[in-house]
Amino acid sequence: MKQQHSGQTRGRVVVIGAGIGGLAAAVRLAHAGLDVTVVETRSGPGGKMRTVPSAAGPIDAGPTVLTMRHVFDDLFTAAGTQLEDHLHLTAQPILARHWWPDGSTLDLHADPIATEAAIGSFAGARAAAEFRRFHHRTAQLFTAFDAPMMQAPSPRAAALLGAALRTPAIWPTLLPGMTLARSLALGFQDPRLRQLFGRYATYVGGSPYRAPAVLGLIWQAEARGVWAVQGGMHRLATALSDLARAGGARLRFGVGALRLRQNWGRITEVQLTDGTSLPCDCVVFNGDPAALAEGLLGQVARPAVTQNAVAPRSLSAWVWAFAATASGPDLIHHNVFFGKDPRQEFGPIAQGQRPADPTLYVCAQDRHDPTAATPSGPERFEIIMNAPAKSQPAPHEDQECHTLTFTQLARFGLQFSPTAPISALTPPAEFAKMFPASQGALYGRSPNSPLAALQRPGPRTSVAGLYLAGGGAHPGAGVPMAARSGQHAAAAIMHDLSFR
Ligand SMILES: Cc1cc2nc3c(=O)[nH]c(=O)nc-3n(C[C@H](O)[C@H](O)[C@H](O)COP(=O)(O)OP(=O)(O)OC[C@H]3O[C@@H](n4cnc5c(N)ncnc54)[C@H](O)[C@@H]3O)c2cc1C
Repeated sequence: MKQQHSGQTRGRVVVIGAGIGGLAAAVRLAHAGLDVTVVETRSGPGGKMRTVPSAAGPIDAGPTVLTMRHVFDDLFTAAGTQLEDHLHLTAQPILARHWWPDGSTLDLHADPIATEAAIGSFAGARAAAEFRRFHHRTAQLFTAFDAPMMQAPSPRAAALLGAALRTPAIWPTLLPGMTLARSLALGFQDPRLRQLFGRYATYVGGSPYRAPAVLGLIWQAEARGVWAVQGGMHRLATALSDLARAGGARLRFGVGALRLRQNWGRITEVQLTDGTSLPCDCVVFNGDPAALAEGLLGQVARPAVTQNAVAPRSLSAWVWAFAATASGPDLIHHNVFFGKDPRQEFGPIAQGQRPADPTLYVCAQDRHDPTAATPSGPERFEIIMNAPAKSQPAPHEDQECHTLTFTQLARFGLQFSPTAPISALTPPAEFAKMFPASQGALYGRSPNSPLAALQRPGPRTSVAGLYLAGGGAHPGAGVPMAARSGQHAAAAIMHDLSFR
C-alpha cells in the first residue's frame, strides 16, 4: 500500500541510471509512494546487464551468474508481489564446469557433498578434505560479515571488528598480508584448486594475488545457489523496470543527466541532455561514482565522492557475444577454461597488459535448463576474458584478442562455426565510453586492498539530497550487491525525507 506524503513538493526523486542499483532504488521508492523519475542515457534498462542482438535472439553481454536470489525475492515482496509471478528462474544443479590444459575437468555442484565427492575423484581424498575445510571456513566468513558488511547501509570498522572477534576460526584469514592466493596456497595442495577458488576474486574485479583472503566468501554466494533467468539475465532488468512503472515511476530512456543544481545547499534540480530539467528533492546517482568526483555532473556534485573512494580501478574485460554452433567439449550453462598458470594471467593484467595465458569463461546461454536437450542449431554464447581497465584501445587490440581467445579455446577442442566476428567484441575502451568516468573498470573501486570494503562510498553523500546506488557504491559490485545498494539508497532517502 502506498504511503501518503504531505506537501506538494515532497518526495520527488530523480534516479540517474537504470542499472540494477538504480532500478532497485526506483522500485522501492515508487512503491513506497514517492514521485520517481528514472533517466537513462541508453535506449533501455539494465546498464551492464545488456544484450546484443543476434539471429538466435538477444545475447546477454553482461552478467550471467545470478546468485543470492533472496535479495530479489525481498525486492519483489517490497513491491507487494512475488518474483515468480514475473520471472522464471531455474536453479542450476551444476554451478560450473571447469577445464584445465592438462585435460582434467571438474564440476562444482549446488550440493556441497556432491562437490566434495567430485573433488575427491578429481584430486584425491586429501583435496576433498581440504575443500570441506575451505567450504566450512568461507561459510563462517559469510555468516560473520553478512549483517555488518553486506546488509549494513555503511560498514563500520567497529562492527566488522566485533564480528571478527566473535569468530576466532576466521582470524587466520584476516591476518595482515593474507591475500586470497596465499590463503588458498595454505589450504589446498593441488594448484588447480588454488586457481579455481582464486578466480572468485575476479567476480568483484580483483586479482587473487592482491585481494584480501576474506573475498573467499564470494564462493559462498555461489555455493548457496546459482539461478538462470529464462529468456536471459536481461529479463531481470526489464522485470524491474516494469515493477518500478507499476509503482508509478516514470522511466525515460535516451536522455541523460547533464548537471545537478543546488539551492540553499541542497540538490533541487537535474538538468537533462535534451535541454529540459527535473525539479527534485533527492537524486540517486547510479552511474560510476567516479563520474561525480570528475565533475561530470557539475561542480556541486564533485565533493560527493572522494578520489580514494573510486581509485584504484577494478578489472575490465574483453567480452564476446555471438551466435554460433559449437563443437568439442560438453558445455553446460557456465564453463571455465583455465590457462596453465594464473600468474601469466594476473601478472600482465597488473601491468596494464593483455594476459599471456588467459582463463576464459564461456556462457552457453541456451543451455540453462539442465533437463532440456542440447540445442541442435546455432546458440548464444558469451565469452569473457579479464582485462586491465583502460580508456584507450591499443593498436590491433581487437584482432589480437580474437586470435588469443579462439586459439586458446581451440586447444581445448572448442570450435565455433561461424567464428565470432570482430564486431561481436566489447573491449575495455568500449566499456569506458558506455560508463562515463569508469575507465572501463566494471566493478567500481578495486577490491585489491584489505580496507577496500570500507573505502567505497555509501548511500549518503556529503552533498545534501544526493545519494548513490550501484556496483561502485557499498556493498560493491555484482548484481545482488548492486540491488542491495539500491535498497540502502531508498532506505536513506525515506528516512531523510521523513525527518527533514
Ligand atoms: C561482462 C560482465 C559480466 C558480469 N558478470 C556478472 C555475473 O555473472 N554476476 C553478477 O552478479 N555480476 C556480474 N557483473 C557485474 C554486474 O553486472 C554489475 O555489478 C551490475 O550490473 C552493476 O549495476 P549498477 O547498478 O552499478 O549499474 P550499471 O550497470 O553500471 O548501470 C549504470 C547506468 O547508469 C547510466 N548512467 C550513467 N551516467 C548517467 C547519466 N549522467 N545520465 C543518465 N544515465 C546515466 C548508464 O548508462 C547505465 O545504464 C558483470 C559485469 C559485466 C560487465
